[in-house]
Amino acid sequence: MPELIYDYIIVGAGSAGCVLANRLSEDGKNTVLVLEAGPEDKSSMIKIPGAFAYFMFSRKYNWRYETEPVNDIRGGKPIFCPRGKTLGGSSAVNAMVYIRGHESDYDHWRELGNEGWGFSDLLPFFKKAETNERGGDEYHGDQGPLYVSDTVNSYPLNDCFIKGAEQAGYPLTNDFNGPNFEGAGYYQFTIKDGQRCGVSRSYLKPALDRPNLNIQCEALVQRLIFDEKKAEGVAYTKAGQDFVVKARKEVLLSGGSFNSPHLLMLSGIGESEELKQHGISTIHDLPGVGKNLQEHVDACVLVKSKKKDGFSLSPRGLGRMLPDTLRYLMFKKGNLANSITQAGAFLKSNDGVQVPDIQMHFVPLLFDDCGRDARLLSQHGYSLHV
Ligand SMILES: Cc1cc2nc3c(=O)[nH]c(=O)nc-3n(C[C@H](O)[C@H](O)[C@H](O)COP(=O)(O)OP(=O)(O)OC[C@H]3O[C@@H](n4cnc5c(N)ncnc54)[C@H](O)[C@@H]3O)c2cc1C
Repeated sequence: MPELIYDYIIVGAGSAGCVLANRLSEDGKNTVLVLEAGPEDKSSMIKIPGAFAYFMFSRKYNWRYETEPVNDIRGGKPIFCPRGKTLGGSSAVNAMVYIRGHESDYDHWRELGNEGWGFSDLLPFFKKAETNERGGDEYHGDQGPLYVSDTVNSYPLNDCFIKGAEQAGYPLTNDFNGPNFEGAGYYQFTIKDGQRCGVSRSYLKPALDRPNLNIQCEALVQRLIFDEKKAEGVAYTKAGQDFVVKARKEVLLSGGSFNSPHLLMLSGIGESEELKQHGISTIHDLPGVGKNLQEHVDACVLVKSKKKDGFSLSPRGLGRMLPDTLRYLMFKKGNLANSITQAGAFLKSNDGVQVPDIQMHFVPLLFDDCGRDARLLSQHGYSLHV
């Protein structure tokens, strides 16, 4: 069991938490405790890029949130909101597309008063994080822990999508993270040697033998503990037992965009009136907490096709999966070595828009509801996720 006091306590070992754990413990002096609600990332399926849909059904590795039903969307059914729950967090279950925000997004943060968060401030850190297989340049790093690779196009339909975009008059780009964000093209991926390169593999595993880093899995943080208004520790549950740990320096909340505000509210930080309704005493009245969540819609254009060259769970598609699986097991190559989406686009919704405000993922199969619609998956076609 962990000691009772650490320099830093990190809540959640996801994309943010694993990077923090590595960087804060690298001097060998800071003592760092990481508390992760999910289990260790032992499933070999996590490593297989093509196994994306598998984790959308998992209760062990996925929080599987759902929205309240919205009347005019999906016929009033709740919308599925997956989130990873293991070492690596959502980077253990995501589609691995390596994409940064548009430069203007970060500059807007800086304009709002967040010094040090503009694109020119952040670019050195993007580069520090990255080893791009194309090599380093003005926009890319070649020494970082996160491996970024090109995709090997495995379906002819991907080329059709890009050609179609060009014929429709849209620009093409060969690097969404370079100077030409706008256009259609192939994405790059956090995949190394045919296996997922999430943050657990790139940041956490290399730091595991540091004696000053302690990682506890299946440890659900219940609330933050305060001294007046300063967070000085956390209370968590593991294997049915309650624990309290204190931080000498900082408590870092990296539980993701759903759970971090939830935990703040459980701890008494949020809109006072709302907290009162749930019997929570207010530590700090902060009305923005737990509000204004923005998530991309993932509206799907689904097209059935007579040609049967995409992926499908049809008898014909399943027949093709056997050699695919063998190829992956033997050489870590083929369709399973790739993300389900390979091509995409960033476009402007109209001429008045300054920077692209639409992202597209082209998927060479009939794929909706994060792959949970098996009826669609068993037919042939393609889909565009917007
Ligand atoms: C299905 C899916 C596909 C995606 N595809 C892409 C993509 O292709 N490209 C891309 O750039 N982004 C993608 N994303 C988004 C990206 O993965 C996330 O934005 C990113 O991983 C979020 O990082 P985070 O550190 O904020 O949270 P997470 O990585 O979600 O980590 C939060 C961690 O905190 C843990 N935790 C939460 N609450 C507690 C608690 N109370 N106590 C202890 N631990 C707790 C969770 O279990 C989790 O491990 C995708 C996301 C999903 C879910």
